[in-house]
Amino acid sequence: MGSCPVRQAPLPVPLQQLLAKLRAQGVADERVLQALASTPREVFLPEGLRVRAWEDFAFDIGFGQTISQPSVVARMIALAQVGPEDRVLEIGTGSGFQTAVLARLCRFVFTVERIPQLAAQARFRLAQLGLRNVTVQVMDGSLGWRAHAPYDVILVSAAAPTIPPPLLEQLAQGGRLVAPVGGLNQQELVRVTRGGEGFLSQSFGQASFVPLVGKEGFAASQGGRAGGSFGEQPREAKGS
Ligand code: SAH
Repeated sequence: MGSCPVRQAPLPVPLQQLLAKLRAQGVADERVLQALASTPREVFLPEGLRVRAWEDFAFDIGFGQTISQPSVVARMIALAQVGPEDRVLEIGTGSGFQTAVLARLCRFVFTVERIPQLAAQARFRLAQLGLRNVTVQVMDGSLGWRAHAPYDVILVSAAAPTIPPPLLEQLAQGGRLVAPVGGLNQQELVRVTRGGEGFLSQSFGQASFVPLVGKEGFAASQGGRAGGSFGEQPREAKGS
């Protein structure tokens, strides 16, 4: 009688520590924490860094870009209140790690990346994980992706000088947009909610992302390695 208990391997210690840290910071949405924990970050890292997958750092992924800190991914997704029926637009696929976490939480992820090699790599990894509710497109995401608008959630994974107007236009009624907004080195994590009365903007502390390079972002000449170091350095502050 009774069911056979399923024995699960214990979570790696650094992942347990990361989850404890996020709970302590007030990221309490268990759906988000579960999606994060069940996404193998090592798949999205260069080979030499895979053993360090659950360290809470941004790492260099080539082309002057970085994979986000897992705590920042969790915070941004929690702020966006991603629901199971939501259609999500992600600007800046990068490694595809955040895309994979999102795909576990919503109906469909439309993700755009300006660097073709990163987009191709992310597409391959997402397919490897069997995530089918995702499409990766190479384009300037500062203009959004009008063809599939409106979106319930728009997540911008790169620093924008201001929130690009096309993204606001492409946000559904009741939709949430989360983006780092500010200068090249330091930004404020902002959430904009579209309600009946218009757009409500709230700030959630400091962040440091690589730049959004495009028509409604920074100029390409500004978009290289914008100061600071890469590699093991945390490029994205926790922003509390
Ligand atoms: N969250 C990602 C990291 C994103 S890094 C991860 O976990 O891996 C930011 C990404 O935004 C970079 O890959 C960069 O090439 C991309 N990007 C910058 N400007 C862009 C634009 N205008 N449109 C699309 N992608 C852009």
